[in-house]
Amino acid sequence: MTETNTAPTTTDTSAANDDALAPFADAAKALVDRCLAEPASDEDIAIVERQLGRYPRGMVAVGARCACGRPLAVVTRPMLPGGIPFPTTCYLTSPEAVKAASHVEAEGGMRDYNELLAEDESVRNAYHDAHLRYLAFRHELALRLGDSEEHIADTSAGGMPTRVKCLHALLAQTLVMGPGANPIGDLTLERIAGEFSPTVCRCAVED
Ligand SMILES: [Zn+2]
Repeated sequence: MTETNTAPTTTDTSAANDDALAPFADAAKALVDRCLAEPASDEDIAIVERQLGRYPRGMVAVGARCACGRPLAVVTRPMLPGGIPFPTTCYLTSPEAVKAASHVEAEGGMRDYNELLAEDESVRNAYHDAHLRYLAFRHELALRLGDSEEHIADTSAGGMPTRVKCLHALLAQTLVMGPGANPIGDLTLERIAGEFSPTVCRCAVED
């Protein structure tokens, strides 16, 4: 491992982040534009509430949809109503996708991917970029919604930038941002293709 922890030691994390996030700013703006152009509808929120078994607080938009149109992953604002910081900006909601990612975790997928990160520098670099991409997206979302990023400015999701801890979070990023955004999310999506794919509807119909 050649990477060192470069987390800023000052409390002003936003300034320290700006340079690192700059290469991802344009893509982040475009994605936030897309989200805000089509905010979550009442029907979307109702479906996600059934998928999660709870009301999706702070849901901004549907970030990815199944071939049938149902939400697969949602975009959630950086600060929930009541001032609660929420780092998992891309959140997996499809029960079929959640189940498929859990199967990979249960069969040791996270160990495989952590080994891959340790062995392969190009994957490691791409994974670090995925982390910055995630932060750039949330930073832009926070600016546009007027949300504070206090407490979560350097926190992405799923164990990024150096570990794989939650495939659900990484898969959600891949679904929201598309192929190439997160190498481990991409590998997870490939691995579960027989069980889940955004292009093949396997939704259990209940609406
Ligand atoms: Zn479907």
